[in-house]
Amino acid sequence: MFKKILIANRGEIALRVQRACREMGIQTVVVYSEADREAKYVRLADEAVCIGPAPSAQSYLHMPAIISAAEVTDAEAIHPGYGFLSENADFAERVEKSGFAFIGPRPDSIRLMGDKVSAKQSMIRSGVPCVPGSEGALPDDPREITRIARSIGYPVIIKAAGGGGGRGMRVVHTEAALINAVTMTRSEAGAAFGNPAVYMEKFLLQPRHIEIQVLADTHGNALWLGERDCSMQRRHQKILEEAPAPGIPRRLIERIGTRCADACKKIGYRGAGTFEFLYENGEFYFIEMNTRVQVEHPVTELITGIDIVVEQIRIAAGEKLTVRQRGVQFNGHSIECRINAEDPYKFTPSPGRITTWHVPGGPGVRVDSHAYANYFVPPNYDSMIGKIIVHGATREQAIARMRIALSEMVVDGIQTNIPLHRDLMVDARFIEGGTSIHYLEEYLAARHQG
Ligand code: ADP
Repeated sequence: MFKKILIANRGEIALRVQRACREMGIQTVVVYSEADREAKYVRLADEAVCIGPAPSAQSYLHMPAIISAAEVTDAEAIHPGYGFLSENADFAERVEKSGFAFIGPRPDSIRLMGDKVSAKQSMIRSGVPCVPGSEGALPDDPREITRIARSIGYPVIIKAAGGGGGRGMRVVHTEAALINAVTMTRSEAGAAFGNPAVYMEKFLLQPRHIEIQVLADTHGNALWLGERDCSMQRRHQKILEEAPAPGIPRRLIERIGTRCADACKKIGYRGAGTFEFLYENGEFYFIEMNTRVQVEHPVTELITGIDIVVEQIRIAAGEKLTVRQRGVQFNGHSIECRINAEDPYKFTPSPGRITTWHVPGGPGVRVDSHAYANYFVPPNYDSMIGKIIVHGATREQAIARMRIALSEMVVDGIQTNIPLHRDLMVDARFIEGGTSIHYLEEYLAARHQG
């Protein structure tokens, strides 16, 4: 096992990875930008290295600074967390070429999945169902594009092969709007992702976002750890996740889960990963794979009892998975609310100093956060400052526990989205379960009008 790991991230996930390392008796090196100098988790680490000023491009995205930090501290492995460099194949390659273990998939798997066209093609080959659409990137010929759209049927969605974070997508309802939409998405994709390739999919009208967590070792073993329902989204950003997904027959989940684990074996995948699907009318449609640990991984941990970050580290060290698929047991229900420093209804970021910070506790309550009273939320990064995750024997109990947890939580000095979560926990449609990816925006629009 590694003796020392460098954590190339910040905030709650840096603390989460640090906790896993400490539990395993592994020393930690935390890198930080000048904006994160005062953060307590930085001081908790065995060693901390400042890698640059606040802007991410000069710190958390600055590969040479991170690799030098690993060199000077004699770290053996680098955990990239999520966001930042976690899905950057060039970074993974540089980490490995510099002699460190990358706690994540092989660079070629990251590259394969980072291009959504090649990802989809490889999934089709591996027997994973995909959204009906163009066979690969769209050709230049407008007549050919029109023909493809007709055969798929409107509405269609034009998506950038290199897109991510909910950017680089455009829905087209009529043939008249098609070519212009393709041209615009292409030029935006070229500018934003350095790759103008776009592809076309059928636009599903009321899908749910259901994803499958997988773990694969370097000895040919792969497992799926159940599903998560992440349909509660605003502008394609998830705000609340749960496991299991309410109302989906277990046999459908088992079938798709098995397909995902088999696909991992076929592509020689290594580490933790997530297959994202849209789910509509009893069918799953693959949209993309995330080749890293996800924000919402704790809901899976709470229903399976498996520590995903510990497993990532063990896999990177070359160890075999200790659990077999038969040994994966699903217990109860888990819900996660992402706590963001933002106006709960206008969504404008609300960085600044936290004056009061009181976190909930009690049975089945977990809080993953790096924040504390007097912590300054820097304006430079993502607005998420933590997560409340609850577990209950049933979904009803999990909701009840989340309501209590949210009622106990006090954050003063900045605004947070806790009031929105409190409202959602008593919303009739949420309580019923199984809302589509559009529900939250409809809910917010109705609220705005009312
Ligand atoms: P990103 O990498 O930017 O997150 P995804 O391909 O995962 O892009 O899509 C993000 C979101 O966009 C999905 O969760 C879903 O809400 C919506 N979306 C993507 N493809 C489709 C589709 N074919 N039909 C309907 N909605 C879609």
